Amino acid sequence: MQYRKVEKSGDRISILGYGGMRFPTKGGLIDEEKARTQLRHAIDQGVNYIDTAYFYHGGQSETFIGKALKDGYMDKVHIATKMPPWLVNSTLDMDRIIETQLNRLQVETIDYYLLHALNRENWEKFLSLDILNYLTALKASGKIRNVGFSFHGDRENFVEVIDAYDWDFCQIQYNILDENTQAGRFGLEYAAEKGIAVFIMEPLRGGTLAQKLPKQVKILYDDFHIKRTPAEWALKWIWNQPGVTMVLSGMTEDQHIEDNIAYAKDMLPNQFSTEENALIQEAKNIYLNLQRVPCTGCQYCMPCPFGVDIPRCFDLYNSKYLLNQKTGTFYWMQLGGMNGKPSHASLCTKCGACLEHCPQSIDIPSRLVDVADDMENFLMKPTMKIGNSVVKFYNKLKALK
Ligand code: SF4
Ligand code: SF4
Repeated sequence: MQYRKVEKSGDRISILGYGGMRFPTKGGLIDEEKARTQLRHAIDQGVNYIDTAYFYHGGQSETFIGKALKDGYMDKVHIATKMPPWLVNSTLDMDRIIETQLNRLQVETIDYYLLHALNRENWEKFLSLDILNYLTALKASGKIRNVGFSFHGDRENFVEVIDAYDWDFCQIQYNILDENTQAGRFGLEYAAEKGIAVFIMEPLRGGTLAQKLPKQVKILYDDFHIKRTPAEWALKWIWNQPGVTMVLSGMTEDQHIEDNIAYAKDMLPNQFSTEENALIQEAKNIYLNLQRVPCTGCQYCMPCPFGVDIPRCFDLYNSKYLLNQKTGTFYWMQLGGMNGKPSHASLCTKCGACLEHCPQSIDIPSRLVDVADDMENFLMKPTMKIGNSVVKFYNKLKALK
């Protein structure tokens, strides 16, 4: 495992961090036995940064990590969690949230504390709560050790936030497709020049860069003289940049953990050749031409009060174009109600409840109209109605046997 230094604290952080928002689940809850084994294994292999947040896994993530890292494992890692802007309207709210987080994690100090998902609106809300003095006092009390923020706003807002405080670190969305969106490469370099550690989230854009490989990108990678998996290309492209301290990955499968640890073994900054950089730029252009909606699958917008499975709608819509797949039947099988309640795009009432939660600033209701127009043709609804009735009848028959 490679490590990079956080300038302000001197901590040596593993270049691969463990994201606590995609633990394996069973029956809607974290599969604690499996997730605990995976997490401890990663720590045994040198991962020493664990990131969570107040509401990950509906609030279970912090509690799970607190339990899973008992018996000495917590001492081997730097633990990070975040203050949710959506839930705070006063200093008392912030006090209550911090105390809850310390209790859930079973620690006296949170090593890395972030204001969660800053954009212009959340930043202004925090400023109205005198957040900067609050953070300074919190740090002085010993309840947090390093102060930072995660960011989803625009470049101008990023500069404003960076310049407003003596931050120890920041966390930005950065990957092959987001080199010039949100804080982007500009923000990465701007923060790094000021000695602020830069942590990266969404390095694989919610899995898009690892799993959804357009044919043209596959040919590009296959024909190149250096052989790497798509995930390896995506992660190493980020680690290659000297301003990057650590890359977070939310890992669900054992194999992903093994692979990512292997990729992090030998990657130093500035290792890519001009040719390798050019290859990535070519792949990026192909993705950007094909992708329809920049959804990362983060689930922040869920649940929708009207039952729309927003990330799945966008996922299947994107897959149709990225992978040139005929996803129509699949769309209806998954979202049309055959496996439970219908959750397709045209159920959206445009109530707008999801809008403020999307870190990608996607105009969800209007993009769902695009999804419905494309994926839900007039024949499909009656066909699915018949399909659903057949499935219900079959299930009833099975129950009678
Ligand atoms: S706008 Fe549509 S998708 Fe968003 S919460 Fe309302 S009904 Fe659900
Ligand atoms: S629509 Fe936005 S909030 Fe919802 S999953 Fe996609 S990126 Fe996340």
